Amino acid sequence: NKTVYTFGGAADHSDPRQADKTVTGGKGANLAEMARIGLPVPPGFTITTEECVRYLQEGADFSDDLRGQVAEALKHIEATVGKKFGDASDPLLVSVRSGARVSMPGMMDTVLNLGLNDETVQGLASASGDERFAWDSYRRFIQMYSDVVLGLDHGLFEEALEITKEDNDYYADTEMTADDWKTLVAEYKSLAEEELGHPFPQDVHEQLWGAIKAVFDSWDSDRAKVYRRLNDIPADWGTAVNVQAMVFGNMGDTSATGVAFTRDPATGEKAYYGEYLINAQGEDVVAGIRTPQYLTKAAREAANAKPLSMEEAMPEPYAELAHVFDLLEKHYKDMQDIEFTVQQGKLWMLQTRSGKRTAKAALKLAVDMVGEGLIDEKTAIRRVDPMALDQLLHPTLDPEAKRDVLTSGLPASPGAASGKIVLDADTAENWAQRGEKVILVRVETSPEDIHGMHAAQGILTARGGMTSHAAVVARGMGRPCVSGASQVSIDRQAKTLLIGNRELKEGDTITLDGGNGQVMAGEVPTIEPELAGDFARLMEWADKHRRMRVRTNAETPHDCRMARQFGAEGIGLCRTEHMFFDAGRISAVREMILADDERGRRVALEKLLPEQRKDFREIFEVMVGLPCTIRLLDPPLHEFLPHGHAEFEELANATGVGIDHLKRRAGELHEFNPMLGHRGCRLGITFPEIYEMQARAIFEAACEVARESGEAPVPEIMIPLVATKRELELLKALVDRVAKQVFEEQGASVEYLVGTMIELPRAALMAGEIAEEGAFFSFGTNDLTQTTLGVSRDDSARFLAPYVDKGIFPRDPFVSLDIDGVGQLVELAAERGRATRPDIKLGICGEHGGDPASIDFCEKVGLDYVSASPYRVPIARLAAAQASL
Ligand code: ADP
Ligand code: MG
Ligand code: MG
Repeated sequence: NKTVYTFGGAADHSDPRQADKTVTGGKGANLAEMARIGLPVPPGFTITTEECVRYLQEGADFSDDLRGQVAEALKHIEATVGKKFGDASDPLLVSVRSGARVSMPGMMDTVLNLGLNDETVQGLASASGDERFAWDSYRRFIQMYSDVVLGLDHGLFEEALEITKEDNDYYADTEMTADDWKTLVAEYKSLAEEELGHPFPQDVHEQLWGAIKAVFDSWDSDRAKVYRRLNDIPADWGTAVNVQAMVFGNMGDTSATGVAFTRDPATGEKAYYGEYLINAQGEDVVAGIRTPQYLTKAAREAANAKPLSMEEAMPEPYAELAHVFDLLEKHYKDMQDIEFTVQQGKLWMLQTRSGKRTAKAALKLAVDMVGEGLIDEKTAIRRVDPMALDQLLHPTLDPEAKRDVLTSGLPASPGAASGKIVLDADTAENWAQRGEKVILVRVETSPEDIHGMHAAQGILTARGGMTSHAAVVARGMGRPCVSGASQVSIDRQAKTLLIGNRELKEGDTITLDGGNGQVMAGEVPTIEPELAGDFARLMEWADKHRRMRVRTNAETPHDCRMARQFGAEGIGLCRTEHMFFDAGRISAVREMILADDERGRRVALEKLLPEQRKDFREIFEVMVGLPCTIRLLDPPLHEFLPHGHAEFEELANATGVGIDHLKRRAGELHEFNPMLGHRGCRLGITFPEIYEMQARAIFEAACEVARESGEAPVPEIMIPLVATKRELELLKALVDRVAKQVFEEQGASVEYLVGTMIELPRAALMAGEIAEEGAFFSFGTNDLTQTTLGVSRDDSARFLAPYVDKGIFPRDPFVSLDIDGVGQLVELAAERGRATRPDIKLGICGEHGGDPASIDFCEKVGLDYVSASPYRVPIARLAAAQASL
């Protein structure tokens, strides 16, 4: 295989390997491609990534074969340019550029002007007739080469330049004369010699091979390794080396260098976007030495800037550049990020690649390009990162607005919210009822805070991770949330809180940015999301191309409505326990729990029945005709117990039961490890009357809605935390019995299913047997992750981050499914379930149902649907479409 490919001039660009980024790297492949389609590219050659890998594996020596191929390729450049490398009268200069498959910070920086030495600099001066330019180029070369190839501290050189400027009273580099540069070069050389212990290399071939070696070696630099690890880039890719004839943007006022995007990468607007600098080279534009100028007249005028745009100052090269932009977009069918140089009025292309973009721009670009016929719908679907949609669905803080940042926590639920600080859920509800916007600030939240979280614009907690109660519930409700802001300390007695050293009190206004975890003092203005237009269009395409259905996790009519607006096709998880905490009911719930016997419990349940029926009615009305998976009561009873004397007293008054008796009963119900305790179907087994009441409420509500709207919802009754077939068998019999009774009483019936959550490893293993009873499985991957890993989701924030940092888990397993481990259980349960019951309905209702990587896995396993919190529904729709393409 060839290891060196030439490009530009009369080079043959026909070998498909040259267009393959895995062989020639991103930069090399695109340079050759631009040359092939006739764009002005300075000639050069690319040494393949394969050669880099070979060099690194076999030890640091270059083969004769490589030396031979490079010598040949150099001749190609020389012939094209008409100059010779190392020629004392008119030297060819080259740049040496690294270029991996994907653009990779951490790789060697580019060396420009290579081929200059004490002799060739004279030749460059006389041939160009510009002495200043020649010596400016030489000093740039010595500085760059010393820095990136020889590993010298570039501060040394910068300091020397600064001193020269100060001595001469210069402000800008442009004031330096040819003689000044000449003096500085002498200084640079002696600085280098002092540091190196030998003279700065004068042999141009030694310079070239030194730079090639430095590029190869940089693949294994610490910087590159860190970047690879963080971005999942395999160590065996290697980098290519590009050696290219120099073109000079620093040859006076008809020369320039610039960077540009073919469209605005922030908004996606179809307008050229970029910056350029006259009489400058390479990185000057981004280095901030001088303020770059606008590319277009329109941009300059919009910014009210004085220095002429390229369009105005260099109309001809600009027109050519604009033409190249259009060609490149048509060719690559994507927005391009471009580097170019103008040498004495002539345009040269130095790089092109797909440009990075914001979420908003990604959406607009994808939709516009379909409209322009550049790409098809499937490509458009693939172009947008589903997670990026998250930024677009919530009101966001005005990026122009000032932020007085108090502290930062975890970005637990996206969106922005401002409001008055409240320190407990009841106050949140009260203040919200009188029309105040509030932010609920808690050490951490619990199910009892739900009403306060609902009433609040946003939630801030001092403890808890990305999957803490606050985070999960807030995401579910679409409330912005910052969790685990450890600098926040709350004094509930004094109704104050300390953030760092700033003291705030209840009623003070703060703003949360759930997108980055910032907490700000005062109100920061927001901008509303745009759900019509491009967003709607892309979603339409996604729906057309996906196989899996997308449901939502929701339990209030409000959330259900929101989820339907976002495109949910049913409910995948309705958690009934949240309904038990409502102000009007909690006392009946407590009465039920603390009752001495079944008779007592039934009395209390009678009070709850109409309330539950109403809950389900409201949900069914929104979800009419759609499947609704309702999970029967799941949390440990423990969570509903009264706290503190006052609550016991209230309950004693309400029920007429002695307070001591109530407290003793509560003591009996206390659990040390409630997550593994008396919860899930275990409640239904021991207190069947609770599930009976819930089933009755569901069926009565379903019959009512069917009667009134003419269309029935399809309740899918889900039994949580099943480990054995027998559990499900007993509880299914209970549900069927209640259904039969209700249907007889109502003289009507609705279709329904009874199924189970798979959230214990045993359930996954025994799925074949469990499927004999269950008509559907919903993978409760939050608990399944917790029970498989033996990691508590409520307590893991403390060690999960270090676990991810050390590479023990690639990502937080509560955020992105542990496909290798927990995924096996899902796959196995799906297979075993289907073997027993081929038409079994399979879905996922854990947090993972809204995570693109997990959704991709769900498609592979062949689940029928994913279920995500309302705001994640669009993300799931897009991710499901990508997974099916
Ligand atoms: P990076 O990958 O960091 O962008 P590049 O290899 O693209 O590094 O080089 C950085 C800059 O150096 C380019 O944008 C261009 O301005 C300049 N440069 C590179 N090669 C040449 C060349 N042959 N002639 C003129 N300028 C060059
Ligand atoms: Mg570049
Ligand atoms: Mg569970």
